[in-house]
Amino acid sequence: MVLNKARPGVDRAAPRLSGVQLKVQAARLGQAMPSLAAAYAQALARWLGDPVLRLAGRPIITECYRSPERQDELYKQGRSKPGPVVTYKRGGESKHNQLPAPALDVAFLLPDGEVSWSGLLLGKFARLMKAADARVHWGGDWPRFKDRPHFEV
Ligand SMILES: [Zn+2]
Repeated sequence: MVLNKARPGVDRAAPRLSGVQLKVQAARLGQAMPSLAAAYAQALARWLGDPVLRLAGRPIITECYRSPERQDELYKQGRSKPGPVVTYKRGGESKHNQLPAPALDVAFLLPDGEVSWSGLLLGKFARLMKAADARVHWGGDWPRFKDRPHFEV
């Protein structure tokens, strides 16, 4: 998925979101429970304020609220539909299916315009999320099914 193609000469610049992308991010954050939204906002501000991290990638919320119908579609993946298993929850069972949502999924917009689910970057972001609010749980800490893009309260 390509969101922003890097232009020559700005490759070392931190990746930036367009106005439309910022609106999408604000709308997704608006679906989150207030405590989770506040933790994300604080972690994002810390990330963007770090001269090294901000060049590595820009955190983005890929999904917050998810309809039960879409959850059921995801559940079929790796079972009755091709692809890897991405969830053990059926429609209505996931924290993503509640509104306001106590869960959100994170990825990174890279300087070259690609979207990354790097475990290294997600681990660094998870530290900031947990520092922002001790009630935040990271899917990468789960012993069985590691869900590194996933954060919940
Ligand atoms: Zn999730």
